[in-house]
Amino acid sequence: MPIMEPYRIKVVEPIPITTPEQRRRAMERAGYNQFNLSADEVTIDLLTDSGTNAVSAAQLAAGIDGDETYAGSRSWHRFRQAVGDLMNYEHILPAHQGRAAERILFTALLKPGQMSVSNTHFDTTRANVALLGCEPRDLPCREAADLDSPAPFKGNIDLDALREVLSGPERERVGLVLMTVTNNGGGGQPVSMANLIATRELCRQFGVPLFLDAARFAENAWLVTQREEGYRDHTPRQVAQAMFALADGCVASLKKDGIAHIGAVLAFNDDRLADICQLHVIASEGFLTYGGMTGRDLDMLAQGLAEVTDPLYLRARASMTEYLAEVVDAAGVTIVRPPGIHALYLNAGRLLPHLRPDQFPGHGLACELYLQGGIRCAELGSLYLAEIDDDGTVRNSPPHELVRLAVPRRVYTQTHLEYVGEVLAKIAKHPERVPGYRLTKNPQVLRPFHCRLEPITS
Ligand SMILES: *Cc1c(COP(=O)(O)O)cnc(C)c1O
Repeated sequence: MPIMEPYRIKVVEPIPITTPEQRRRAMERAGYNQFNLSADEVTIDLLTDSGTNAVSAAQLAAGIDGDETYAGSRSWHRFRQAVGDLMNYEHILPAHQGRAAERILFTALLKPGQMSVSNTHFDTTRANVALLGCEPRDLPCREAADLDSPAPFKGNIDLDALREVLSGPERERVGLVLMTVTNNGGGGQPVSMANLIATRELCRQFGVPLFLDAARFAENAWLVTQREEGYRDHTPRQVAQAMFALADGCVASLKKDGIAHIGAVLAFNDDRLADICQLHVIASEGFLTYGGMTGRDLDMLAQGLAEVTDPLYLRARASMTEYLAEVVDAAGVTIVRPPGIHALYLNAGRLLPHLRPDQFPGHGLACELYLQGGIRCAELGSLYLAEIDDDGTVRNSPPHELVRLAVPRRVYTQTHLEYVGEVLAKIAKHPERVPGYRLTKNPQVLRPFHCRLEPITS
């Protein structure tokens, strides 16, 4: 039994209900790439939880009071106060979204040839490190490789591997350690406080700055209160504050746990770093009191950041994803265990053993969810992560073929998730009927967003 949402619905938006024939035509037109579908063609959109959140009445009201003054707006002061209450850093810089904040931080912190070491870099984070001529190095903990392991903190960094890097000849190349909470690239799994504390100790011992990529700080904090001994009597806000206190600073996309539609923050204590980052914010984002956001956004975020650590909200949100995990499990589809909060990761490779990685089982399952039920989601397997030559040869496939069902905040009800489970169950009854896919257009850069495919009909 899921725990009911601690809110009721005040405004509604119809969702498109489509026929199988409409969906088939939509997919043909889209080149079987779900990024080419229009909102009007999608019934349940689980592509991402980023910027797709439902705002509260209090957030809308705060937005109306947004102050669009260029410098020193009231909205900025309210935003700064709300952010400062969570993360007690000296310098708080706004940016329009997470990747902009990342780029600015890395530009200031990394020299070409250096490395950023992480539990797992998120895609844009990895790209921003690489674009500076630096190496993004992932050191996920060992349990992370076992999708079925119920270990509670599979988002952790491998502390032995981190110690080895920091105490060895590569130390000079390490520009920062970046802990992603929750670990989005690693199955949405949380990081424990114990792991963060140990990471902080290592960073201190070897003189390396520790930053958080804190897009889902509240969801990580909630899972700490639920899964980690010693934190059960803490509020999620207390845990979040303790997490931020362990790091030298953070970048955070606020399109997730800001429960709004746009925004980010870059925050830290280092004065010298602030001089450089402030220049870059002004040159590329906007003045230091808005950073590419409107006053309306700043105010909606300030209110969202107050709401997101509410234990009742977090409990209900976590229980939605747990419920979806049960429904999916009942349908006979395995997921990355244990379920996190912002998404479920389906093990498509296991469901569709008749498809080889170069026939893209994850993409096959994602397409089927759309064709059968108008459900949009994202493949995280060979199509997204492997190297694919012009002739279609797939090299360096990732170890698992996954599909991510992301759950936007406060948008869908339990009935919607039940529907997703029903569609999945229908597919799982005859998995052998799900076709593989081949690429008809294979761009070498940003492939998932531009590629086109067709089903393999034998
Ligand atoms: C979304 C996300 C980012 C990038 O943020 P945007 O606001 O989408 O640019 C960075 N890191 C993590 C962990 C994310 O989930």
